[in-house]
Amino acid sequence: MSEKSDWYPRKLTRREFLAAAGSLPLAAAAAARGQTASLAGQSGNILIIICDQLSQRVLGCYGDKLSVTPNIDLLARSGVRFSNAYTNCPLCQPSRASFWTGRYPHETRIDSNFTTKTGPLIPSAMTTLGSIFQKAKYDTVHFGKQHDAGALRGFSLIASKEADLDSPKAWPVDYDSKEDVNTTANVIRFLQESHDAPFLAVASLNNPHNICGWVGENEGPHENIPLPEGSLLPPLPDNFEIKDLKNRPLPIQYLCCSHRRLRQAAQWNELNYRHYLAAYYHYISLVDTQVGQIMDALVSIPEAKNTLVVLMADHGDGMSSHRMVTKQVSFYEEMTRIPLIFSGAGLAGHSQLIREPMVSLLDLMPTLCDYAGLQAPADLPGRSLLPWIRDENPSGWPPYVVSEWQTEWGYTVSPGRMLRTSNFKYVRYLEGSGEELYDLENDPGEKLNLAGLGQNRKDIEKLREMLKEHTRITRDPFFGLGVKVDPRWRSHKLGYANHEGPSAPEAAWEAEGRKENN
Ligand code: ZN
Repeated sequence: MSEKSDWYPRKLTRREFLAAAGSLPLAAAAAARGQTASLAGQSGNILIIICDQLSQRVLGCYGDKLSVTPNIDLLARSGVRFSNAYTNCPLCQPSRASFWTGRYPHETRIDSNFTTKTGPLIPSAMTTLGSIFQKAKYDTVHFGKQHDAGALRGFSLIASKEADLDSPKAWPVDYDSKEDVNTTANVIRFLQESHDAPFLAVASLNNPHNICGWVGENEGPHENIPLPEGSLLPPLPDNFEIKDLKNRPLPIQYLCCSHRRLRQAAQWNELNYRHYLAAYYHYISLVDTQVGQIMDALVSIPEAKNTLVVLMADHGDGMSSHRMVTKQVSFYEEMTRIPLIFSGAGLAGHSQLIREPMVSLLDLMPTLCDYAGLQAPADLPGRSLLPWIRDENPSGWPPYVVSEWQTEWGYTVSPGRMLRTSNFKYVRYLEGSGEELYDLENDPGEKLNLAGLGQNRKDIEKLREMLKEHTRITRDPFFGLGVKVDPRWRSHKLGYANHEGPSAPEAAWEAEGRKENN
């Protein structure tokens, strides 16, 4: 990849970037004069690249050994990446509504993937990232996957159509991948146009989300699932089995009952789970290629030297850890820990992994407003990450992040909260007062639920208090929420392989006479 190492006209140090090429001091000065940065004509462009369902741990730049992401890795080498970066909900729509507004799902009230033609929508008075930048005369344009419940207010929305995909026929599920071809072409065209105003552009790619449809296509027991010749067949992760399932909360014990995709995979053998990983890596390499195409287009235009690039995901994927596929309900690292990369002129070659702060997608909006010298709502729960990027050590940084769970479609409602500190992950579900505690320093694969064993009582007490206090400060009604679970979805012999028949959403759709894809 050495031919791409000169993405930026000149490799500045970060100090030079901040002093000269970047818009930070200029924007701050403009803001101090009561002008917006864009009106001062000095503000930088921002390009946000979103991958759907991309775990942090699958990227080479975050340590994955298979390393199928040369383009994302190159982007990371040209910037900084946050290590302890989390989604605030491991599901598409609640996560997106959350990060586009900088508000927790309990604030946006978008807590599921449920949609109709008319809603639900975020509160009409809620400020969105797009609306702030639109007001500041940025060219705000969003390409590709939306699923935002109105939180993209302020952006011009360019939806995608399925375009031809040059991929092997043995990967039969490719509707998401085909849309990404179109999204990428639209983004490249936009970048190559002339720009009269600074832009805030979003390339919202579907992949590796196409893995969801792949599970549906390959549901049920298989000896072998055909893969293209020569494709990777990754090993199972060392946290594949949940050996202490009996000590885990009910929503985890019966995830096969509430989650259609896990029900579809419940009778897979170990080899099939490796097939799943092969397919997941396939979809990742597709999206990585598209990230490379978009970056090639960006660096070939003059605006590149004044553009901040953010690469992120709305949530991760089970990746066969704990026998899980896709996402939702659980807060395990594979599903909640996401890539968060900032790159741009001046950050080139820096390649810093910022390990210390606990950060989440709630920090996106304050960070971008800070970068552009624009005013974010004062009461946002997140904070600007720029001090960390500038190598400063901001005081009073919160010692934890929180992720929320409510329901996928409304059929099984089992609210949960994850509170992640620098060394522990504490999870609380209302159903059965289920708790999880993982010592992530010593058990990064979350193999042993210490709460289920009655260990670390003092730590648990402290974390319970932290969560309680957090709900008080953020006015999160969590402890007063209701649980709605039909007992038939908590009844079979323990173990996902023991699931028979449909899952809760499938049974409901069947009763309603609906047929969902795959
Ligand atoms: Zn089940």
